[in-house]
Amino acid sequence: MDFLDIQQKTDTAVLKTYGRFPLAFEKGEGAYLTAVDGKTYLDFNSGLGVNALGHCHPKVVGLVKKQAEMVYHTSNLYHIPSQSVLAEKICSTCFGERVFFCNSGAEAVEGALKFARKWGTAFDPKKTEIIAFANSFHGRTFGSLSATMQDKYQNGFAPLVPGFKKAVFNDIESVKALVTEYTAAVIIEPLQGEGGVNPAEKEFMSSLENLCREKNMLLIVDEVQCGMGRTGKLFAYEHYNIEPDIMTLAKPLAGGLPIGATVVGPRIWSAILPGEHASTFGGNHFVTGVASGVFDLIADDDFVNEVAEKSNYMFENLHVIAEKFSCIKDVRGIGLLIGVEVDFPSIDAVNYFQDKGILICPAGPNVVRFIPPLIVTKNDIDRVLDTFDSFLSEKCE
Ligand code: PLP
Repeated sequence: MDFLDIQQKTDTAVLKTYGRFPLAFEKGEGAYLTAVDGKTYLDFNSGLGVNALGHCHPKVVGLVKKQAEMVYHTSNLYHIPSQSVLAEKICSTCFGERVFFCNSGAEAVEGALKFARKWGTAFDPKKTEIIAFANSFHGRTFGSLSATMQDKYQNGFAPLVPGFKKAVFNDIESVKALVTEYTAAVIIEPLQGEGGVNPAEKEFMSSLENLCREKNMLLIVDEVQCGMGRTGKLFAYEHYNIEPDIMTLAKPLAGGLPIGATVVGPRIWSAILPGEHASTFGGNHFVTGVASGVFDLIADDDFVNEVAEKSNYMFENLHVIAEKFSCIKDVRGIGLLIGVEVDFPSIDAVNYFQDKGILICPAGPNVVRFIPPLIVTKNDIDRVLDTFDSFLSEKCE
């Protein structure tokens, strides 16, 4: 199919919930994608943080084939070997004691919110309040949307789920002001993604953990975007020397297949009983068979350390670029989730990069986001830095 055919079918048959770039891809390899017109693109978007191992990674392709030929779905009425293996691997690398599997980030958050309320109501039926943060993004289902404190996502969908309160990111006093005896949990992205690539400060996270302990509330970290090696540690919370109670994972966990996971710690898991939460597809043979192999590749110290090295290299060079151009207001992020705040619409940079054969995406109106596959090379990074430098030379002078 040529591009115009695809576009015509999308426009006439797919519900218009997305604003799309005029591009369609048909092949991928490593950090590169080939469009239907044959043009190749360097992918510094990685499917919005999903393709951590790049496209068509040979090991992932092998796992997909192997699992498809064995069995792909039986339901959670029965034990699922690959699900139990993956859960054990996740728990052995973090605070988690048990894992609930689902199919997306929003669903993983939904699970976290439900588990927190189930836990809270055992103390008091009114202990159901959840505190979330300005500029957060937790998903589009009603629960996760109610925790997503940005009008642009919530507008048009009222009434939302009651019991959610908005605190100021990195401001512990704003959290304290909202806490009551009925607060069950605080949910936070250690590194906000969609909200503009905003890292939580170390002192703030540590105060938040202390507050949660002091007031008998759960600390939920949403690592759907920033987890699984993205920040140069396996989990982003590890940068903060804290121990959360619940963690959500999704995007990169199965290397491109749809999956979500809600990891729960020692304070909660026994509050959840059989029949209280479920997902038909959640954790099926196919997706967890693949995810289990993906997990081995990402949860490798050398792999994660290399992410940190590549990140240092990229940050050092971005800071040099930022010195040259006054239209750069900030360079921030952790690992390979990097945001550059500019004083012009970030979409201008996205369009320029696309013309030059590089895919990037915005994180809000003024933040250019770089979220490459974790397997990118220094040469790929150099190409992106050179392109950014050329773009800014034209744009800012
Ligand atoms: N949580 C965070 C931090 C996210 O970045 C996202 C998606 O971008 C979600 C939750 C929702 O994930 P999904 O789109 O898979 O439902």
